[in-house]
Parts: sequence; C-alpha cells; structure tokens
Amino acid sequence: MDCFDAGILMLKELEGTSAEREREVLAAHLLTCPACMRHYKYLRNAVFGDENEKLQTRIPVDFEVQVMTKIRYVNAVTVVTTKVNKIK
Ligand SMILES: [Zn+2]
Repeated sequence: MDCFDAGILMLKELEGTSAEREREVLAAHLLTCPACMRHYKYLRNAVFGDENEKLQTRIPVDFEVQVMTKIRYVNAVTVVTTKVNKIK
C-alpha cells in the first residue's frame, strides 16, 4: 500500500464505489501519511465543496495533474482492489 494506491482508493471512495475494506485501508493510510491526508481533504473539498475551505486549503499546483494521471490509469483500480483484498 503506497501513496499511489491511496490516491486510487480516495477516488473510489469519492465516487462511492469503494468497498468497506478499501475504506478501512485508506483510513489507516491517511492516519500515517500527512501528504495523503492533505490530498484527501482537498479532493473531498473539490467534490463536496465549501468555498471558504477551498480558499484556505493550500493546493500543490501539480496536484490536479497528478489526479488526472491517476484517473487515466483506470486499470490501476483493479490492481489496487486486488492488493487490498490480499492485506489480512
Ligand atoms: Zn500516502
């Protein structure tokens, strides 16, 4: 489970397509990874939006590019789902 995997799980969660196990794994990663927590907050904000929070959130300029890159690798979702299922 690395930050790329976490990014995929974030997108799945925000789409409402993540499994309970995937949400647990993501939550565990977010607790140990401030960078992903920041990205996750940004993504949630982008989806469920609150203008004040948007203004307060410092967003890395390349982050949207990173997200779009992740979205392009749709196959990665399958890979990550397989990985999550292997974690006991
Ligand atoms: Zn991370």
